[in-house]
Amino acid sequence: MAALRQEPVRLTPTATLNTAPTPDGLLGPAAIRDLAQQLGLRPTKALGQNFLHDANTIRKIVRTAGLTADDVVCEVGPGLGSLTLGLLPACAAVTAVEIDARLADQLPLTVAERAPQYTDRLTVVTADALRIAELPGPPVTALVANLPYNVAVPVLLHLLELLPSVRTALVLVQAEVADRLAAAPGSAAYGVPSVKAAWYADVRRAGNVPRPVFWPAPNVDSGLVALTRRPAPEGDRAATFAVIDAAFATRRKGLRAALARWAGSPAAAEARLRAAGIDPTTRGEQLSVTDFARLAAT
Ligand code: SAM
Repeated sequence: MAALRQEPVRLTPTATLNTAPTPDGLLGPAAIRDLAQQLGLRPTKALGQNFLHDANTIRKIVRTAGLTADDVVCEVGPGLGSLTLGLLPACAAVTAVEIDARLADQLPLTVAERAPQYTDRLTVVTADALRIAELPGPPVTALVANLPYNVAVPVLLHLLELLPSVRTALVLVQAEVADRLAAAPGSAAYGVPSVKAAWYADVRRAGNVPRPVFWPAPNVDSGLVALTRRPAPEGDRAATFAVIDAAFATRRKGLRAALARWAGSPAAAEARLRAAGIDPTTRGEQLSVTDFARLAAT
C-alpha cells in the first residue's frame, strides 16, 4: 500500500479529519468505515462503541501512556483496532479484551494485514471485562484503553483490583468521569469514583480529546486519565469501599447521619468517627481514602 503523507489534524471540535492511510498503518476514517461496512457493524450505544479514527489522537494516547518496550498492556475494548495498532509497536505484548465477538474475531486479521510484524504480540480475549477473573499470558504491567463509557469506572476499578501487576494506566473516558476520577478531597467533583480510584493509584487528568476524532462522534466530551499505582492504604479494601458507598449515598448529610445505618445508629457512627479522629459533622467529600480506611478499621 502506498504510504501517503498525512496532513496534521487540528485537535479542535471543528477539526476536519484526513482519510488517507497513514505510513504507520494506523486506521483513519476511511479504513474505519470500510471495516465497519465489511463487518456489517452498526456501532451501539449500549456497548459504548465510539471508535477512534484519527491517527494523531492515537499517537498522542500512546505517547502519553509512556510505555516501555517491556510493558505488557491490557486494552479493554479494542473495537476495530485503532488503538491496538498504535500500542503494538510500543510495548512487548497487548492482551485485548473485547465483548463483541465480531470485533474480537476481526482484530487479529486487521493486525495481520496492517502490522504483520506484530501479530505475535497480540492476544485477544472475547469476554466482558467486568467479568474476567484472569488474563492469559505474562502479568500485565499497563492498562491503556478507550473505555466503553457506560461501564468505564467499574471496568477500571475491577482491573486495578484483579491485576496488581499493573503499574500504570491511561484511560479515555467521558470528560465528566475523568474529572471525577482525578478529583481531590473537598472539590465539587470528588465522589465515590475519586476515592476508590485513589485506593489504588495517584490519579491525574492527562488532556482532552475532541468529539470529531470518534466515529460516531459521542454527544459528550472526552478526557484522558493517567493512573500510577501506589501502595494501598492499610486496612481492608471491601470494608473501606462499604463505608465510602455509605458516606456518599446521602451526600448532603454530615457523616454522623450518613453513616448511621452503616454503623447501626447515629451514636455508633459518631463513636466510630471519633475513634478514627474524624469530626462527626464532616461530610464525606472532605475525607481522603486514608481517612476512610482508618474509619473502616475502627
Ligand atoms: N478501542 C477502540 C477505539 O478506540 O476505537 C474502541 C473503543 S469503544 C469506546 C469501546 C469498545 O469496548 C467497543 O469495541 C465495545 O464493543 C467494547 N466493550 C463494551 N463493553 C465492553 C465490556 N464490558 N468488556 C469488553 N469490551 C467492551
